[in-house]
This record gives sequence, C-alpha cells and structure tokens, in this order.
Amino acid sequence: MSVPEFRNEPFTDFTVESNKEAMRAAILKVRGELGKHYPLHIGADRVMTESKLTSINPGKTDEVIGYVSKADQALAETAMQTAWRMFETWKHVPARERAAYLFKAAALMRERKHEFSAWMVLEAGKNYAEADADTAEAIDFLEFYGREMIRLSEIHLTQPLVRIPGEDNRLSYIPLGVGVIIPPWNFPLAICVGMTTAAIVSGNTVLLKPASTTPVIAYRFVELMEEVGLPPGVINFVPGSGAEIGDYLTAHPRTRFICFTGSKEVGLHINRLAAETAPGQLWIKRVIAEMGGKDGIVVDETADLDAAAQGIVASAFGFQGQKCSAGSRAIIVESVYDEVVAKVEALTQQLVVGLPEHNDAVGPVIDKTSYERILRYIELGKREGRLLAGGASAGGDGYYIQPTVFADVAGKAVLMQEEIFGPVLAIAKARDWEHAIAMYNDTEFGLTGAFYSRNEERIACALETMHCGNLYVNRKCTGALVGVHPFGGFNMSGTDSKAGGYDYLLLFTQAKLTSRKV
Ligand code: NAP
Ligand code: MG
Repeated sequence: MSVPEFRNEPFTDFTVESNKEAMRAAILKVRGELGKHYPLHIGADRVMTESKLTSINPGKTDEVIGYVSKADQALAETAMQTAWRMFETWKHVPARERAAYLFKAAALMRERKHEFSAWMVLEAGKNYAEADADTAEAIDFLEFYGREMIRLSEIHLTQPLVRIPGEDNRLSYIPLGVGVIIPPWNFPLAICVGMTTAAIVSGNTVLLKPASTTPVIAYRFVELMEEVGLPPGVINFVPGSGAEIGDYLTAHPRTRFICFTGSKEVGLHINRLAAETAPGQLWIKRVIAEMGGKDGIVVDETADLDAAAQGIVASAFGFQGQKCSAGSRAIIVESVYDEVVAKVEALTQQLVVGLPEHNDAVGPVIDKTSYERILRYIELGKREGRLLAGGASAGGDGYYIQPTVFADVAGKAVLMQEEIFGPVLAIAKARDWEHAIAMYNDTEFGLTGAFYSRNEERIACALETMHCGNLYVNRKCTGALVGVHPFGGFNMSGTDSKAGGYDYLLLFTQAKLTSRKV
C-alpha cells in the first residue's frame, strides 16, 4: 500500500456564510448530546465511577458538557496492568498496520470536522477558527505520525548504515513499553491526539489522563480510535485528578515513559518524581515535557509597523492568550515605540469579547482559578505599567476578561517574566534592536518568538541570537503547522521535543542495533 504524501489539512474559511452555517449546525447537534455520563476505558471494560469530573462550558458556566468518570489509584493500577498485557501483542503489530489505524481515524475526523470543533467551542471556549485549527492539527498529527512510523520502520532501506564486508547491520526503532500521556486543556484535541498517537503508532500502549477541564473532547477521540478498530487496551482512558492519579502513575515502577504538556510547575514536578527509582524498576523513565512560555515579538524601526502591530495583537489575544506560543510580550525600539503602541491599542480596542458559539474574537478563559489568577496579574500590571486597553473582567455568564494591554513595562517586571496564560500583553521600550533582542532573551523560557524588521543583517543576527525553539520573522509567533514548523521550546519551556517534526517518534522508541555475520 502506498501512502500519499503528507499535506496539511486546510483551514475552514468562516467568512463564507455556508461554512459558518455548518459550524452552527454542528454546535446545535453537539448541544443535543450535552450532559452525558462517560466511563473510563480500561482494556475492553467500560467503568462508570461514582465520583465524576463535571466539565462545564467556560463561556456559559451553567451549561454542563458532561460528567466524566474518575480513576482512583486502584483503577489506575488495573489500567497499568492491562496496558502491559496489551503491549505484548501490540508491539508485534507491523508498523504499517499500526499506522493504518491513524489514517482511518484521520479520515473519519475529517468527515466530522465541525462536530469535533463544536465540542471545543463548547467545552474549551474556542471560537470557530481556533477550534477548526485545533481539529485540523489533530488530523495532521494522525497523518504525519502514521507516515513517520512507516518511514522509521523502513529506515534501513532509505538510510542504510555504513557497510563493512561480512556483516549485515541494522538499526531498528522498537517501542519502550507503557507510557502515561498527560495533555493540557488548551489544545484539547490536537495535543491529546498528537501525544497519544505518536506513542501508540510507535508500538507502545498508554494510559491517557486528559486535562480535567476538557475530558469530554478527549473521550470523543478515544471513542473514534475504538471506532476504527484499535484493539482495546492500546489506549486506556483514565481521567482523574492530576495530583492523585498523576503522581501515582508518574511514580509507578512500571511506567516506562511520561509524555506531558502543561505548565512549568507541573512539568518540573513530574520530572523530579520520575527521576526517582522505585524498587524493582528496570529502567530510567523517559520524560518528554513541553511546558510554558513567555513568548515575545521584537519590532525594529525598519519594520512594516502595521504588520507588526497586527502580528502582536493576533499573537497576544488568539484563544484569549491561552496558547503556550502566545505573544504576551512586545519589545519595540524607541524611535517607533509610540507609533506601534498606538496601532496595537487601536487594534485591541476593536476586539469583540463574547460567546465562542457566536464566534466573537475573544471568548472566556478556561476556568475560575485561571480567571482569578489573570485578574490578579492585571491588578499587578496597573502598578508595573501604563494601562492602555482592558484591565478588568468583561462580565457575562462565563470567565470573560477584556483583552488587556500594558505599555512601558520594565524588562524585569513580573508581567514581562511570568507566564500569565490569559489575554494580557506587556509592552516594553528598547533603546535599539540589539537591546530589544537582549530583553527578548531575558526570561527563563524559550518557546516562540518573532522578529519584525526589513534589515537583512539584523534579521540574520536575530535568527542566530534569539534563543527559542520556534523563531519567526515578519509573522506572528503562534500558529505552528505540523511538518512545516516542528514545535517545542528551550530552557524552562521544555525538552524541545519538536512535536510534528521528524525527530518526534524517536522519543517514543529505542534504537536496537543488530549485527549479523554473513
Ligand atoms: P497544567 O495545569 O500543568 O496541566 C497539564 C496536565 O497535567 C493536566 O492534564 C493536569 O491534570 C495534569 N497534572 C496536574 N498535576 C499533575 C501531577 N501532579 N501529575 C501528573 N499530571 C498532573 O497545565 P494546563 O493548565 O493544562 O495547560 C497550560 C500550560 O500548558 C501552560 O503553561 C502552557 O504554556 C503549557 N503548554 C505548553 C505547550 C508546549 O508545547 N510547550 C503546549 C500547550 C500548553 P488536571 O487537569 O487534572 O489538573
Ligand atoms: Mg470545561
């Protein structure tokens, strides 16, 4: 079977009325399915527990998306044993067969694209374009990792080892074992699908613990994999509290690897816990951890200032600033500072805050804890900078916050250093472009960045010196595409695992060299 070349899933154009209408219809359909109860999946068993996670619509907090069963430690233990039993079979399934499950899932997800997106509109508070991009990325991961596994499994043909007479030498990439997959809520479909399917297509079996605020969309994915005939026990679905079952699974002696995407705090905690060796443990656990960012955009005086202002606003406020790649800082050189700040202010004032299902530009933040934390940062911002736009809750029946901009923030200010993960932009003034790059580099993170300039020498210098995993020139710092912009960051942004890149599956495999005398 030959597999066609990978191509990114196109985004839906929601300026076309019929596309908008199709999304509204999907939302209506999904609304008819709200409030259901969901079980755990442990092997072929469906386990409905007494205690449940209640997932709500962050844009309309009295609307329940669903009630999702919660694993306790005993159920997590059963899932661990089930996954190991299944591993013994699954690891022998040929790579092309494993990949075929991903391709089938991609085809079905493409058919039901708006439905998947509609769940995210309601459960995560994404507007149409943000939800659509999330679903498109999920499809891309399925298509890309399927192809990647095929490539890796046949690498001895395309990239043979150095030959010496009398020996047949081969490197093959074999799976690790059972992994624990811990995705965040902010790309509740794409990242959940990407991390899980990279692991399983590589021949591992997994325990998937979704984020507690978006478990229903994760369930929809698990159900899809069941529909395409993935053998039970390859993906075990075990929602539950990060603190309770998360720690139990991280510390478990039979956990072979942990694939985590989320905050720096939780990532470092997992890394620490996983480094300890339990009695009887046979391996050093592998930790793949993609964490936060304090991403920024640098603008010099030669730049297209309109484009820069648009890039700053899009990067800061897309999905309410709740992207690891969100451009929460802008650093602008003195000579064009006032002009760019005025443009950013004007563009921000135009953003409409409202219900995701009405497709307004800025929706709610994910939950009450987040909402309160962001508002505290905004109060702090009023002392650290000059408030230009927003600065308060936006009212309504959900966790709405006005897109907020502070100017004249010092490089070392909290607002310039800590990840806020909400619609808050801090702007700083730099003496010149080199000073601006130095300020850009002055955080503990290193995920995404952008440089706006028309000067080739400066661009060359920025490309070399801005220290981050994903660096963009004359474009916004969000919106990485699978295969096109492999994604992952430096320093406290994580292990730079480059999701959607050619190195990603290596993290889920170990290379075995076999040498045979001939
Ligand atoms: P989070 O609070 O760290 O949670 C992430 C996941 O970890 C959730 O599933 C959470 O479960 C779980 N968790 C919490 N405590 C745990 C523990 N002790 N052991 C094991 N798992 C535990 O992050 P988030 O709020 O979902 O996501 C936002 C963060 O993710 C931001 O910092 C953002 O920058 C980062 N992010 C990074 C990337 C990247 O590629 N670098 C991509 C997206 C997001 P519960 O929901 O049950 O608490
Ligand atoms: Mg929710």
